[in-house]
Amino acid sequence: MDIDSKLPDNYKNHKIWLTLDLEELEDANFNLIKIKDYNINYECIIDKWLMLCEEFQVKSTIFVLGTFCLKYPHIVQKIYNAGHEIASHGYKHNLIYKENFKDWINSINDVKKILEDTISSEVNGYRSPSWSLPNDKKYYQELLEAGYKYSSSYFPFKTYMYGNSEDKKEPFKVELKDDFIVEIPIPKLILPFSGGFYLRVLPMPILNHLFTKMLKNAKKPVIYIHPYELLDENLSIYLYSKMKINFDYFLATFCTSKPHNKIKKILKRL
Ligand SMILES: [Zn+2]
Repeated sequence: MDIDSKLPDNYKNHKIWLTLDLEELEDANFNLIKIKDYNINYECIIDKWLMLCEEFQVKSTIFVLGTFCLKYPHIVQKIYNAGHEIASHGYKHNLIYKENFKDWINSINDVKKILEDTISSEVNGYRSPSWSLPNDKKYYQELLEAGYKYSSSYFPFKTYMYGNSEDKKEPFKVELKDDFIVEIPIPKLILPFSGGFYLRVLPMPILNHLFTKMLKNAKKPVIYIHPYELLDENLSIYLYSKMKINFDYFLATFCTSKPHNKIKKILKRL
């Protein structure tokens, strides 16, 4: 069978694959010491995202955490009704390599059912929390058996929390017993650049150069962001001013209000 048969339509149909990992700020694996007295309006954030996609006539893939879906099913339904793909971001935001294997297997089945019950449609995609899926066939075998067709969990750069040292330029087949699953890696040019910390800190001229270079080489950039990267600047400054400053604080908080406008500028140039 062809690799295309398991790739999501939003990947195949757009020059850039837009993805968002839908979780609450407190789900992130950063060691952030947080305050309790804030309230992030996730529906507003998602409305902002849906409007951006609408403006450029693109459909995105939203990897939803199971606990988020249980808490805000109406937001997940709203995204689905707007024509975007709902995929799985795991049940809880646990680092998989620290989790018991059987517990992880249960969790990928549980979250698939929660999402499918919410949108009354099939869920095909999976992205591990914090790119923490080990590059090991036994994990992919379980994803396949749970009914997933593709994963987007391969980060081609080793960090202190996650990642792989080998670069993978394009989606690849993970051959399994009688079948395969597709892994869609995050592309890089020297460094990853199209999401998270990198998209936030890299200046626009460099981003333009990297996106253009990748597109010229017929490679597909994968943008990945989080709700906390779509916060308005004032709320972002307020929230982060209440946190304890440590190393993770810097990784998580730099330029969190920037991606929205950067993505707009990138899409405008397409
Ligand atoms: Zn996440």
